[in-house]
Amino acid sequence: MPFNQEYIINKFITKIQHGNFDLTYFKRNLGKLNIKENNLLTFLNQSTALYFVNSHKIIISQYAQELDIYHELFHALNCTLSNKNNPKLGTGFEEGYTEILTYRYFKSNLEDYIGDSPYVPLIYLVKYLEKIIGKNKMELYYSKNYTSCLIEDLRTYLNSKEIKDLFKDLNFIAYFIDNIVFKNLVNIKINKIRDLLIYMAREKWLKAYQKGEISEKVYLLKIKHFIKSLTKDLKHLDNYQLLKK
Ligand SMILES: [Zn+2]
Repeated sequence: MPFNQEYIINKFITKIQHGNFDLTYFKRNLGKLNIKENNLLTFLNQSTALYFVNSHKIIISQYAQELDIYHELFHALNCTLSNKNNPKLGTGFEEGYTEILTYRYFKSNLEDYIGDSPYVPLIYLVKYLEKIIGKNKMELYYSKNYTSCLIEDLRTYLNSKEIKDLFKDLNFIAYFIDNIVFKNLVNIKINKIRDLLIYMAREKWLKAYQKGEISEKVYLLKIKHFIKSLTKDLKHLDNYQLLKK
């Protein structure tokens, strides 16, 4: 696609200003950011766009859509800060959340377009993780690469091993989602994370109830709604996987 770097970056910043991102570092490094068409990527036809952290460069194939570039710009926003204190959480979480943000700010309805994404299961699982942590916090952590803060928040509910396993399982799903050999194992991991999410949701709202922040009725409704909507989303997943295999 013919594109104008300045136009796309301006549109990106304008849209995401409605979110809870810290754009200080991203804006400071904008001069170094480079988006270029790449013939090899067009030729390989596997991925439409890629972001390289070290050179702060996005390469796109001829077939890239604007949406693909926004996805990479979110990676650029997330990776502008290299930080020893904030460990990488891995492909599973990063791709899932990057897709959520891309759809949130550049498409109106997640469900309408989700089928186009190669990261469907991750999107669904990370979407519910965000419901536990909170949208504002998650967006801020992402834009500042504050993975240690996210881990700290998760410690309210999980121990170190469970947190480590959560991100490892998300990575496993990211790597093997299209691999028929691991189909069962991928499903086991998805169900394991679902149970973990439901456990965290119960803990979250139970605490709010015990503190008197919400009534018993609201507590029960919140849990019911969380489980119902998670189950519904994972049903979509069944359809998606059946279609693919
Ligand atoms: Zn990506």
